[in-house]
Amino acid sequence: MVEKESGYYIDGVLEGNRQVLSKTITLIESALPDHQRLTREVLDALLPHTGNSIRLGITGVPGVGKSTFIESLGMMLLEKGHRPAILAVDPSSARSGGSIMGDKTRMERLAIDSRAFIRPSPAGNTLGGVARKTRETILACEAAGFDVVIVETVGVGQSEYSVASMVDFFLVLLLAGAGDELQGIKRGIIEIADALAVNKADGENLANAERTRRAYENALHLTAPASTVWSPPVLMCSAVTMAGIAEIWETVRDHRRKTIETGEFDLKRTRQAKDWFLYLLDEGLKDWFYQLPKVKRSLPDVRRHVEAGRTTAMAGAKLLLEYLENRKPDHEHNR
Ligand code: GDP
Repeated sequence: MVEKESGYYIDGVLEGNRQVLSKTITLIESALPDHQRLTREVLDALLPHTGNSIRLGITGVPGVGKSTFIESLGMMLLEKGHRPAILAVDPSSARSGGSIMGDKTRMERLAIDSRAFIRPSPAGNTLGGVARKTRETILACEAAGFDVVIVETVGVGQSEYSVASMVDFFLVLLLAGAGDELQGIKRGIIEIADALAVNKADGENLANAERTRRAYENALHLTAPASTVWSPPVLMCSAVTMAGIAEIWETVRDHRRKTIETGEFDLKRTRQAKDWFLYLLDEGLKDWFYQLPKVKRSLPDVRRHVEAGRTTAMAGAKLLLEYLENRKPDHEHNR
């Protein structure tokens, strides 16, 4: 990528230029220190123009119908005059070289509509890295004028928790199951959902879907809702026939209205920003510590000593951490 000045990215994004938005996201995704510096400059300038979208997270196991659902929802949003941006979080693509989300052509109708924006999952070695890029990409999309940002993730692993912590509304798509519906999906995911929806509630599957819906509704009654103004509903939909899609969107808007009224909405965003700040600080500290030449030099030896039982774990850790205490402040270094 040929680098440009920050003004190129800032102006282009604010004008809603999709090519420049794409390039900005490529910049966000780049690991090169120069690109990261430029990214910070660009994002700082974009920040006052962010925060105005409805941030919607969607998860579900592979095959539940996420892409079909998002395409249907996205097309409906376009009809209502919205401008949806769709981002994917799929750290599996980084690890295995192949993506759980598949290489099939996804969201064909949305992909060719110039009012929508689709960005596949960024490559990255860690969920933390992918999550950082996705958070920053949400901001860039908002600054470019997209007013609904949908973040899709596969319901396996830890990425759901990460996505839930960056959106306003977290929707879990479910499959109708026969009897042991509650076995397949992790309990913890159900507990962080703002709504559940049993997809593929169409044709011969309808009665089965309704049974599953009721089973989840009963299960949810047993968990205490995280919010005082919102009890997560269990809905049904068909991404193919569009049945229930409008109702799900109404639910998202209803949730927004209610949580804004009570201040819970702002509290949630504030808490997310604070948690993210602390996370970044934590990660930054760790990176910095492990990069210290002294730590790099001694860590393998100390670890061997601990493994061999010659040093206790506590003494070993203390030995390395003492390098921090003994470090002189930078200004003394520079004298
Ligand atoms: P993803 O892996 O979660 O993104 O799932 P896809 O959107 O790729 O859907 C998996 C399969 O289920 C595809 O063959 C879809 O056509 C089908 N599918 C998705 N939604 C529905 C639905 O609401 N009803 C029916 N009958 N099939 C669906």
